[in-house]
Amino acid sequence: MTRYLLRALAGKRSSPGIGKNFDHSVVVVSHELTPDEVLRLGRRGAVGFAIEVGGANSHTAIVSRALDVPLVTGIVDITNRVADDDPVIVDGEDGRLTLHPTTETLDRYRNLQRRRRQSEEALSSAARDLPARTVDGAEVELLANVELPEELDDVRRFGASGIGLYRSEFLVLDKSPELPSEEEHVIVVRQLLEALAPQPVVVRTLDLGGGKVARGLVPQDEENPVLGQRGIRLTLARADVFRTQLRALFRAASFGNLRILAPMVTAVEEIRALRRLCNDVCAELEAEGAHYRRDVQLGAMVEVPAAVLIARQLAEEVDFLSIGTNDLIQYTLAVDRTNEQVAALYQPLHPAVLSMIQLVVEAGRRQQVPVALCGEIAASPECVPLLLGLGLRQLSMSPRGIPRVKEVVRSVDICDAEELARRCVAAATADEVSDLLGASGATGAHHRVPVRVG
Ligand code: PEP
Ligand code: MG
Repeated sequence: MTRYLLRALAGKRSSPGIGKNFDHSVVVVSHELTPDEVLRLGRRGAVGFAIEVGGANSHTAIVSRALDVPLVTGIVDITNRVADDDPVIVDGEDGRLTLHPTTETLDRYRNLQRRRRQSEEALSSAARDLPARTVDGAEVELLANVELPEELDDVRRFGASGIGLYRSEFLVLDKSPELPSEEEHVIVVRQLLEALAPQPVVVRTLDLGGGKVARGLVPQDEENPVLGQRGIRLTLARADVFRTQLRALFRAASFGNLRILAPMVTAVEEIRALRRLCNDVCAELEAEGAHYRRDVQLGAMVEVPAAVLIARQLAEEVDFLSIGTNDLIQYTLAVDRTNEQVAALYQPLHPAVLSMIQLVVEAGRRQQVPVALCGEIAASPECVPLLLGLGLRQLSMSPRGIPRVKEVVRSVDICDAEELARRCVAAATADEVSDLLGASGATGAHHRVPVRVG
């Protein structure tokens, strides 16, 4: 019933995009919310979300961040404790929900909100035109993760040097239950490419499945969706849908610097199948006399341990690798990233995760294939010296995270960072790594990535 009401509230029973905007400030309180529900409710003007279940690194949290709407999760029994029209404050930064705030508390939060905005503005305007270069001269590319085209302003405002991850599946979630047409794919990707050319725009092919359900496309009856038809597996199984996207990508490619990235890769065969499909699609476009561009770099996301362990073989097949730590942590530690019950076990600084990153960077170096990192930890200032010490030079994150990360990059010395990384990888526990990061001067180090920044 709750689900049905939410779906109705989210405008799902009407045509996509239809559904009246809220005429007052609405915080949506629910047991859970899927990423597409957050997208629709956010588009209608919701100013906050409070949910009982779901992890801080879930796509539900990621899309609320993209919309710049605060979300708090893991709030026990909130649906029974709050009634319609109750005043609430959602503090996404500290993961706190205040019910029935007093006038003093409201004033305090209004001031806090103003101060946070001011310091974000000050930091971003001070940092925007400065190079992301370490004190000893290593250049670092700071790129943006984007879910929605409306984030383009933020990409520019916060000084990203391109888009390191466009999660194209949000176009499908936005239009669900209809599928986007080839033309609709072209319009969005062309918009990103033209806005940023000659900077790179990495478009990840549809990463549906797992928590991202598009009716009619993603199987609804899987017992373990995150181990089921996800990412590249799903698109290869639905070549009809995939071809539409790939045709659009090669057509849009002529408008800028496009790179195509495959999600959830676990085997070299998947990359080979993708290449065959790309060749087919390009031959088709050629025969049609379409305006398109063939020489587009292809990359693989490394987000499961199998991909880490065959990183060398993958690097022989692709032009670049991108480490998706959100899933890599989930699959390495066997901890559901959307389950707040095991949130304490979701440890980005677990030494096993660090070793995984190190293995991929080494494989990329040996094959001379660039390796980026696009999981949430890229936006964690405490982790940046460690990531640079592990050898990463391309970090992609929510655009808002860039100024703080740039500030840290500009204070790092690579020799020190490498020594720090050696000690972190050799540590026994995530807490030991956290202590090492704290001692290295990256104050406030913790291994829980905040629910949202800003
Ligand atoms: C990741 O897994 O780290 C990633 C960037 O992809 P997503 O968060 O969309 O699964
Ligand atoms: Mg992922």
